[in-house]
Amino acid sequence: MAKRQLAMVMDLNKCIGCQTCTVACKTQWTNRNGREYMYWNNVETQPGTGYPRNWMEAGGGFDADGNLKDGIIPDMVHDYGVPWDYNHDELFGNADQTVLSPNTDPVWGPNWDEDVGEGDWPNSYFFYLPRICNHCSNPGCLAACPREAIFKREQDGIVLVDLERCQGYRYCIAGCPYKKIYFNPKISKSEKCIFCFPRIEKGLPPACAHQCVGRIRFVGFLDDEDSQVYKLVYKYKVALPLRPDFGTQPNVYYVPPVLSPPKFDEEGKPMEGGRIPMEYLEKLFGPEVHRAAETLLAEMEKRKRGEESELMDILIAYSHADMFRLDEN
Ligand code: SF4
Ligand code: SF4
Repeated sequence: MAKRQLAMVMDLNKCIGCQTCTVACKTQWTNRNGREYMYWNNVETQPGTGYPRNWMEAGGGFDADGNLKDGIIPDMVHDYGVPWDYNHDELFGNADQTVLSPNTDPVWGPNWDEDVGEGDWPNSYFFYLPRICNHCSNPGCLAACPREAIFKREQDGIVLVDLERCQGYRYCIAGCPYKKIYFNPKISKSEKCIFCFPRIEKGLPPACAHQCVGRIRFVGFLDDEDSQVYKLVYKYKVALPLRPDFGTQPNVYYVPPVLSPPKFDEEGKPMEGGRIPMEYLEKLFGPEVHRAAETLLAEMEKRKRGEESELMDILIAYSHADMFRLDEN
């Protein structure tokens, strides 16, 4: 049990799917040494298969009695997708070679179904869901490891793998219902998002949050009542964990996407309400999503009338610096 818990809140109403966070994470941690296929941060289209493919149906996590559920280990070719390169060397300086093509024959990859979503024109819809390890309070990866190689840091609740102890059994991958821990075939050990703890220890936000151009990511301690994270999760209760039914008590929270375009009726006239079905949001974020959506829409209306709204001021994120706070408690 950690003494304190760092958390991240992501406002899905503002994510533009630019993947800057993905690239920030990849260049910092996973573009080398057996990690090439890993995306410690990924941004997927929902509804969709996600990354790795169909992770939501891949098992792991806990049942209602707190027992660890069976899970699968995703397949490298069909679920993650083997990273490929392009034939740049053939192309440059060779006038006969005009087709840019991958150097393998990929059958899957991250964002294979990007922007597909669901529904028919003109009422089709999708939104972006950025995902990192949730640094859970009850981690399935940790519970599944027979070597006790996974631990939560006392000072901030960051979940890490002790590479000295890890023997590469991969039970952790089956046990994580978010499939956010990966096997590194080069060193035969499991690796995962480290919440950029070397940056945190220097007083800097994680690279994904620091680089986010949409200003959707807030970072802070959950017990720090002055942090924006605390206000979004506990004061206004508009930030919710992803798939709380998985039972791992995630510490990444999401402000649900309540700002989708309106639906059109058969005559092409806009109707009341957004296109993303609340049932789908309830599947992702649990029944609390209805109350969170009501709060968000009511505060937006207040702001439109020119009234004060602390919640809207936080979500607008006027100052990037205010979105990250490590107090001295
Ligand atoms: Fe472990 Fe998965 Fe939770 Fe991360 S998201 S702490 S890898 S169970
Ligand atoms: Fe979304 Fe921010 Fe990532 Fe862009 S950088 S995809 S806005 S989370």
